[in-house]
Amino acid sequence: MGSIEIIGAGLAGCEAAFQAAEAGVKVVLHEMRPQKRTPAHKTDAFGELVCSNSLKSEQVHSAPWLLKQEMRRLDSLLMRAAEAARVPGGHALTVDREVFSREITNAIQPHRFIEVRRGEITQIPRSGIVIVATGPLTSEALANEISRLTGSHRLYFYDSISPIVCADSIDFSVVFRASRYGKSLDGTDDYLNCPFNKEQYETFVTALLGAASYEAHIEEDKIPYFEGCLPIEEIARRGRDTLRFGPMKPAGLEDPRTGRWPYAAVQLRQENQRADSYNLVGFQNHLRFGDQARIFRMIPGLEGAEFVRFGQMHRNTYINSPALLDSTLQLKSDPRIFFAGQISGVEGYAESIATGLVAGRNAAALARGEEPQRFPRETAFGSLCHYVTHADPRHFQPANITFDLLPPLDKPTKRRLRHDKKARHAEVCRRAAEAFEGFRDGSSASLYHEVSA
Ligand SMILES: Cc1cc2nc3c(=O)[nH]c(=O)nc-3n(C[C@H](O)[C@H](O)[C@H](O)COP(=O)(O)OP(=O)(O)OC[C@H]3O[C@@H](n4cnc5c(N)ncnc54)[C@H](O)[C@@H]3O)c2cc1C
Repeated sequence: MGSIEIIGAGLAGCEAAFQAAEAGVKVVLHEMRPQKRTPAHKTDAFGELVCSNSLKSEQVHSAPWLLKQEMRRLDSLLMRAAEAARVPGGHALTVDREVFSREITNAIQPHRFIEVRRGEITQIPRSGIVIVATGPLTSEALANEISRLTGSHRLYFYDSISPIVCADSIDFSVVFRASRYGKSLDGTDDYLNCPFNKEQYETFVTALLGAASYEAHIEEDKIPYFEGCLPIEEIARRGRDTLRFGPMKPAGLEDPRTGRWPYAAVQLRQENQRADSYNLVGFQNHLRFGDQARIFRMIPGLEGAEFVRFGQMHRNTYINSPALLDSTLQLKSDPRIFFAGQISGVEGYAESIATGLVAGRNAAALARGEEPQRFPRETAFGSLCHYVTHADPRHFQPANITFDLLPPLDKPTKRRLRHDKKARHAEVCRRAAEAFEGFRDGSSASLYHEVSA
């Protein structure tokens, strides 16, 4: 039986190490701290939470809850540590970060199958099974190595995320479908357009200029922005009309109701094949989430918008996983190498732990001469892995777990529960649990046919 080298003893790396070691596989876990630090980590501890102490919602039948339930069912070390470190936090799973790291250390350090080696890894081992779990602040030398492996155009260092809204919360009596100057790649009108008149535009810009931004967590986030990727509030600060000549440019967008171009427009691009969510094109921003909800609901047609995700901008090293990884989290071009955690294209603590768990189990399977497994698509695990490996590589952005990533309910169920969102979410969770248990028993791979797509 082979052994596994894991690079990075953060959230994903520790979970992966524990899963593989519990499967009886020898693990070498590399961590560069304390010799070399990241701009965000403050300690040498395993699984350090670099910012908030929340692992998100524990509200029953929410998507983050579903993901954590699946992790618990697979004996996740970090979920156990979170339980032991839990502090009151309303509906969220909030933890005492020191106790959390201590619980992880107590399981990793003495484990008879885990050897910890401190020091920066600058090259991916040329043979053997490897999990790269070096996170959003991967050291520069290793990032160069990864870019050699994946192609430099497939490694990103910065995340600028646009907000996403649910399609059924868009007012289609206001927005109109059109591509600029009628030009579209496949002849269809690719974009939804939210038209502004002058007064609406002025009010919107005033609100934007008065909004509160997040303070940067780390020096690297106080970036001199790339000119091609400015946050919208920064564009607005450069002049009241600058947005109208940038991401809110109306040129070529004929509103069928007026036969004219609007004064300004926000374009919405379809986010997934089901067309049940849309992102606000070019609307990356640094605003507080509350202000985003308030201000973006001033956009004509988005007055009742429900946000699947808010905009964000921060330092983040991640690969273009849809072009590079299989849903087992193996590199297609060299399947002995796995990616897990934030670098694999997920966003958030819980999501990083989940991909660590998947990579750890699959790497252990490979070491034991078994087939790595794909989680059923109906599960939160399966959907997260599906997203990072099947999203559109041309517009790929890391994602948190949301119901948007899970397959839709069948039409009759959707129709039956159309007035009851809570019941729809409960049904998605019930279906996930069923598929998950079937998968664990080995009785069914998936209820969803696209699993192997
Ligand atoms: C500033 C910042 C704040 C964030 N805040 C939140 C938040 O509040 N909530 C949330 O859900 N998510 C947050 N995230 C996103 C993300 O969930 C966390 O970064 C999370 O820790 C990612 O887990 P990971 O295991 O992928 O990486 P990490 O937990 O960062 O672990 C990676 C490990 O690899 C080590 N390493 C790096 N390079 C090398 C190398 N060459 N050799 C050896 N070791 C190496 C690092 O020292 C680190 O220990 C934040 C990210 C950043 C950058």
